Amino acid sequence: MRLARPLENLINQLLKLPTIGPKTAQRLALYILKLPESEARQIAQAIIDAREKVAPCSSCGCLTDVDPCAICEDEEREGHILCVAEETSDVIAIERTGFRGRYYVLNKNFHLMDGFNLDDLHLQPLLDQLSSGKIQEMVLALNPDIDGEVLSRYLADLAKPHQVRVTRLAHGLPVGGDIEFADEITLRRALEGRNDV
Ligand SMILES: [Zn+2]
Repeated sequence: MRLARPLENLINQLLKLPTIGPKTAQRLALYILKLPESEARQIAQAIIDAREKVAPCSSCGCLTDVDPCAICEDEEREGHILCVAEETSDVIAIERTGFRGRYYVLNKNFHLMDGFNLDDLHLQPLLDQLSSGKIQEMVLALNPDIDGEVLSRYLADLAKPHQVRVTRLAHGLPVGGDIEFADEITLRRALEGRNDV
């Protein structure tokens, strides 16, 4: 059966979203068609608004609708500790832990394995912060994959001339995990990062 062209178009647009496969896209599209028109418009408008009004903070890179963002403007934050993250979603997760330092978000939309050049990263605001003398520690909260490894080394080298302590998140076993089912690399890193009790 040939679908109505606008419906087919909606399904194709939804298919561009992560984790949405053809069946889910079709289900969502049909659901949207059943919504009251005002609600469907609200969804469409929310997408347009978010695209128009949200942008990376010019200072830290967090996605925000006010520049500088609320975190950069928060005087209560510990200014000497800077956490480098790949995405704003990582910042949201780290905020939930009660971390009260500042952030630098790379907004990483590349893969080093695809031949991306690290020099093309927008790092000047980070370098400005490192050379300001206010940062004592830079915490690298990058994903534990190959890109994260390469980026961590690159950023650690950048920080060297500024006498900033560079740390990275410990790699280890998930809470509630089972040692016997842990993969070799995770277990080895957990051993390397062992702490006194
Ligand atoms: Zn900011």
